[in-house]
Amino acid sequence: MVTSTSPAAPVDLAALNRSLDGAGEIREAGPDDMVDGVPASAVARPSSVAALSALLREATGQGLVTVARGAGTAMSWGNPPERADLLLETTALDRLVEHEAGDLVVVAQAGLAMRDLQERVGRAGQELVADLPPERLAAGSTVGGALATGPSGPRRLQRLALRDLVLGATVVLADGTVTASGGKVVKNVAGYDLAKLMTGSLGTLGVIVQAAFRLHPARPERATVTRAGPTEEVARLARQVVASQLAPAAVELDRAAGSDQATLAVLLEGTHDAVRSRSAEAAALVGGEVGEAPPSWWARMPGGDVTAKATATLTGVSDLLRTARAAEQEHGAAVAVRGSAVGVLHLGITAPDPAAVAAVVGRLRAAAPSAREGTVTVLVAPPELRAGLDAWGPVAGLDLMRSIKNQLDPGRNLAPGRFVGGI
Ligand SMILES: Cc1cc2nc3c(=O)[nH]c(=O)nc-3n(C[C@H](O)[C@H](O)[C@H](O)COP(=O)(O)OP(=O)(O)OC[C@H]3O[C@@H](n4cnc5c(N)ncnc54)[C@H](O)[C@@H]3O)c2cc1C
Repeated sequence: MVTSTSPAAPVDLAALNRSLDGAGEIREAGPDDMVDGVPASAVARPSSVAALSALLREATGQGLVTVARGAGTAMSWGNPPERADLLLETTALDRLVEHEAGDLVVVAQAGLAMRDLQERVGRAGQELVADLPPERLAAGSTVGGALATGPSGPRRLQRLALRDLVLGATVVLADGTVTASGGKVVKNVAGYDLAKLMTGSLGTLGVIVQAAFRLHPARPERATVTRAGPTEEVARLARQVVASQLAPAAVELDRAAGSDQATLAVLLEGTHDAVRSRSAEAAALVGGEVGEAPPSWWARMPGGDVTAKATATLTGVSDLLRTARAAEQEHGAAVAVRGSAVGVLHLGITAPDPAAVAAVVGRLRAAAPSAREGTVTVLVAPPELRAGLDAWGPVAGLDLMRSIKNQLDPGRNLAPGRFVGGI
């Protein structure tokens, strides 16, 4: 359910400016400084961690609500915050702090664009396997924003997700405390793996200022095997590829809204000879074609009024696809499904009215025998649709999450209401 918004608190801009001590800028918010429809009062852009910490201490002391912003490409993820008095931009914290190529580790400040990070580590023949779509990279998606949204892309299959690749993070809490986990510790928050906690937290627990990631050697060659056909058949072939000895880097499915057909795309990476032979084997197995570049839909979330993430078991993917088709027919909806054949997919849902959207989400959720075997979480939805939606579904461990929020941000000064359960 949408959390209600409350009026902005009065902002003492001069005191906020003094707290920066010359390391950064502050200004009154303009019409574009909205957080998912919630207007902000001020926008600050600190240029050092010390200034960001002092700013946050001052803002929280004034009773303000602060919302972090990187490139601003995913500010509509999660619920709108209850208020957004201060927008805290991280883009002046854009240093690549360390790249230990021999150790396959990179440490970057939160405001560094992922595109720049990839370019820098790419010079050493390495990559951070995050699979952001090209338009997100071009829009300047930041390291902090990528962690705070916590998505995963096609190569999660072998290389795991960003939450598994993050080795440590430095985070500024609402009271200005600089805390860290993994790597160089300023002050430890005992008992928590802070970096994992921050992944997907949508800025509700602290402001990420720096993170360390594990890198992988970039593989020299890649090929993609594609096969289109009836949805059931394609899902079955996908399971065969996953169970085979082909060691694919990714096995992705794409089913356009309203269609009984789907496409399977298998990515193979490695040395020239290995990729050649394995792609030929994969093509023979699925009856598909070998191409160099992945299809145009690769790593992109499907379009629709509502974007949701679905998880399923390997066999549950077929049930999800079948249910998507049934839900379309029953509710006059369009449900595009795209993602990993091992069960992390994105849905693009469009339906004639809010009740139909809610019914489709409920139906897709019910496709899994239990919440442990499949979930559907709404990532992005316009306010009029979000109002009638249970965006998160059943969530285990909500009390624990609330207690962590309470310890890290007791005054609810960081993007309150954005996360599940009003966190
Ligand atoms: C395979 C793949 C496909 C994707 N496809 C899409 C897509 O189609 N559409 C889409 O919108 N996204 C997509 N993404 C998500 C993409 O990762 C985000 O758009 C992007 O990384 C967010 O970066 P940003 O700097 O623009 O974040 P922002 O939009 O600035 O922030 C996003 C959220 O993170 C919080 N935040 C930002 N910085 C910090 C910080 N330093 N500390 C704490 N909280 C912070 C903000 O408060 C906000 O809640 C995809 C990702 C992957 C891996």
